[in-house]
Amino acid sequence: MGFLKKAWKTVKKAVRTVVWVMNRIGSIFELALSLLRFRPEKKMRIHGWILAEHLHGKFVPVEDEDVVKEWFVKAGEIIKREATVKLLNDGGGPRWAWGAREGAPASAITPPSDTSFLNGGAEEFYDDYHPNYSLFGIRVFIVKDFVPSVRGSSWPVFTGIAAVRKTQVTSGISVGGGPDVLVHEIGHLCGLFHRNGTKSNLMCSSEAGRTGTNLTQWQVSVLRTSEYTSWL
Ligand SMILES: [Zn+2]
Repeated sequence: MGFLKKAWKTVKKAVRTVVWVMNRIGSIFELALSLLRFRPEKKMRIHGWILAEHLHGKFVPVEDEDVVKEWFVKAGEIIKREATVKLLNDGGGPRWAWGAREGAPASAITPPSDTSFLNGGAEEFYDDYHPNYSLFGIRVFIVKDFVPSVRGSSWPVFTGIAAVRKTQVTSGISVGGGPDVLVHEIGHLCGLFHRNGTKSNLMCSSEAGRTGTNLTQWQVSVLRTSEYTSWL
């Protein structure tokens, strides 16, 4: 990695950290107001990338663009309904990320589901994909699968990176991605933890049998005050 690239990464991290701390201080008041149901519309910026595999001399996206666009539309409806947050998609739709051509390692197309073991250059690859508008948007990578297989995963705070598995239905049960998985991962990035005791809650894990996409008043308020929501 060149010196400039390294320096730029350090600057990005520093800026994100400073903004995050300032945000947290301001958000204490905002959290209180939100709990009192004062919730004017906020915005959340998100960008999707569909990874592609190099198969038989061609780059084949792991999922259809129209399918993923539909996920984003439906995810936007859920997050608007629950939290009065408007999902803004840069460029009006997910763009292609021709992973293999860009030198995506196999571990980016089929990443480890336990992100603490993220290796093989996947994190490096994801981190290089930035939409132009902002350092603070959420980035979602549509991947082929995870090892071991899960429906979605998200990276720790500051990165704003999540990955969602392509659509897959096995024996009538969805083991792949979808709008609920997308919003669930957004929830994690916004600081929400699992709530497996309530099946209808968005933050119930897939493994625990999530049946709905509801959020509690507290979850709504945490999500609304996370660093990924803004007034403008
Ligand atoms: Zn989860």
